[in-house]
Amino acid sequence: MLTPALDAVVQRIENAARQYGRPARLLAVSKRQPAAAVAALAAAGQRAFGENYVQEAQGKQAELRDPTLEWHLIGHLQSNKAATAAQAFDWVQTVDRAKLVPLLAAARPDERGPLNVLIQVNIDDEASKHGCRPEDAGALADAVAAAAPRLALRGLMAIPAPLEDMDRRRAAFARMKTLFDTLAASHPSMDTLSMGMSEDFDLAIAEGATMVRVGTALFGERAPRS
Ligand SMILES: *Cc1c(COP(=O)(O)O)cnc(C)c1O
Repeated sequence: MLTPALDAVVQRIENAARQYGRPARLLAVSKRQPAAAVAALAAAGQRAFGENYVQEAQGKQAELRDPTLEWHLIGHLQSNKAATAAQAFDWVQTVDRAKLVPLLAAARPDERGPLNVLIQVNIDDEASKHGCRPEDAGALADAVAAAAPRLALRGLMAIPAPLEDMDRRRAAFARMKTLFDTLAASHPSMDTLSMGMSEDFDLAIAEGATMVRVGTALFGERAPRS
């Protein structure tokens, strides 16, 4: 049974998918939400969850012990956490520099199969933001692809600037889609474009997102940063 919030988000995704002719997957962003909130959505059928911190995710995994859940790291990855991340997650969406590639590949346990990787792109060229420059994404994609079969290059991720002007947000999503199509032409394993959050995921789907990352619209407000 769907919870009302999950039902509403799934409806919004399905409406956009129908309108624009492209399906999108829902990543439930559970950062700063208790394990019980994850369990409630899992009971309603949601499988993929996104976390910003390696340790916080590990705590919830230990509490829930549910091997059917799929965990995505969507927060900035420090080099000294790369090995733990390669073991604790099914996907790392925030690979933004070449240095991380051998660290993730070396630490990925054979029995877990490939670690799914998205390259994070700083699409609005914000000085304060993580993510590689769009012009560097190709070289990074090549490096991740070369680390198969420990790593699987699945696509790109972006967090566009939270502009008031929705047309400019939409333009950033469109630039990501163009970059994605260019790189996917030489990397057939790329099937995922992760963009769009609670406020704007309909627009992101309109521009080609295949995965949307939704927190607040599913769980309500988060606990304050501790
Ligand atoms: C927190 C977060 C989200 C979810 O944001 P909401 O506005 O709560 O939907 C999505 N992506 C990333 C990278 C985040 O850090």
